[in-house]
Amino acid sequence: MLTTNQVDENISGLMQHEEEIMIRLKSLCIAALLAGCASTPHETLTQISTINALLAGAYDGQMRCDELLKQGDFGIGTFDRLDGEMVVCDGTVYQVRSDGKVYTPSPETTTPFAAVTCFDPEQQITISSGADFDAVEKIVDQAAPQKNLFCAIRIDGSFRKMKTRSVPAQNKPYPPLVEVAKHQPVFEYENISGTIIGFRCPQYIEGLNIPGYHLHFLSADKTKGGHILAFEIANAEARIDIANRLTMILPRDTAALADVELGADRSHELEAVEK
Ligand SMILES: [Zn+2]
Repeated sequence: MLTTNQVDENISGLMQHEEEIMIRLKSLCIAALLAGCASTPHETLTQISTINALLAGAYDGQMRCDELLKQGDFGIGTFDRLDGEMVVCDGTVYQVRSDGKVYTPSPETTTPFAAVTCFDPEQQITISSGADFDAVEKIVDQAAPQKNLFCAIRIDGSFRKMKTRSVPAQNKPYPPLVEVAKHQPVFEYENISGTIIGFRCPQYIEGLNIPGYHLHFLSADKTKGGHILAFEIANAEARIDIANRLTMILPRDTAALADVELGADRSHELEAVEK
């Protein structure tokens, strides 16, 4: 039997618990709102500027990181002055600089080129040991044969090998990306756990974004990462989210792309830069 006092104590304990849950729910909602995925249409790839602008050396940042997060909680890109590789993971922006270290940039830090989405996976696939970049492309292609749609890919696991690169910040007059990539630092890791984040874009996106697979890496301890050149999986789970909408945000600043020929065929430069 409970006394009236004990019942009161139990009730007030429950109410306190309920309050704590409500506070937690509220903070979760605020985090989701900050990441923008509550109000941004899902199944949408949002990109800042175009890959041809970046290849041509348009490295001035156009959108702040806090604004970028309103468009999605998952993605990849680079930073103002080409200062490293961007990984957006679970609503946080990470910056892998050319020293190979990972930084958390301030909300005011800007990006000249990035692609993000609200990651909302539809499929999960176990990737077997030994799979490399080519094998993973085949596995994802089989699981997501919609080649004319956008595909966000997240792979969490351990990797026998991971080879990445980053790019150093540039000074004006900016050299084209193909020149910068000739001196890019490359990092090779073995037996490392972490997350691959990136996209498969349709072939017809040429000039606007990177056709095919474009993947970045962030280690589990968030100290290493970069633009992926090669990898080999020990064991991993891949998650896939198909997007059928594309939003492209070009700079409002009319001077930003004034001297850039965005329609030029830069596919050979892209090949040299990405591989
Ligand atoms: Zn990249």
